[in-house]
Amino acid sequence: MRLKASILIVEDEASQQAVLVYNLTSAGYEAVQATDGHDALRLIDEKLPDLILLDWMLPGVSGIEICRQLKVRKDTQAVPIIMLSARSEEVDKVRSLETGADDYLQKPYGIQELLARIKLQLKRVRPATTGAELRHRDLRMDTAAQRLWRADREIALGPREFALLLALIERPGKVFDRGALLDQVWEQDLDVETRTVDVHIARLRKALMQFGADTMIRTVRGTGYALD
Ligand code: CA
Repeated sequence: MRLKASILIVEDEASQQAVLVYNLTSAGYEAVQATDGHDALRLIDEKLPDLILLDWMLPGVSGIEICRQLKVRKDTQAVPIIMLSARSEEVDKVRSLETGADDYLQKPYGIQELLARIKLQLKRVRPATTGAELRHRDLRMDTAAQRLWRADREIALGPREFALLLALIERPGKVFDRGALLDQVWEQDLDVETRTVDVHIARLRKALMQFGADTMIRTVRGTGYALD
């Protein structure tokens, strides 16, 4: 199973919102919707998206103002923002890039171009969600084919174990609490308990053990796990 990137769509026009939700969902993303700036900021505080599609012209707080706010906040500044706007002047593009937007697409745009630009941004910040190959020491994960190798020997993993390792390998050294791993690997499956994470980590370690790679996963007491 592949990790799903979540994309926040901030767009006040219902028809455009619907087209984006349909296309992003079809492309395998989790689409979260906001119709104005306040809504967007509330949703971002609830759960940080992996990428934001931001309409410039919004009721109340403008898209460019939201972009400015998010790019100065420490917790949100790394989230890529693609501005969507009918404004076609070069000065508008420059202004949006200067405000910190990572990309700018002029409406009307082609959906394939948008998807390509989304993938480009995600490859940088969430490579595990894009089908890219990930490496850590001598481990190599092919996220598109869902296969793992150590040197040239393949290690068989169950889908949950694969997704767990993927989450860890994307950010080596980062301590993930169980809740964060549940969020990423089990998504909205609310019946799953945090203890389940421990069970699958144990399976993952067991699979890695025969290759002598089980010590890479470190237990952080009272918190969760990290990859060393
Ligand atoms: Ca608009």
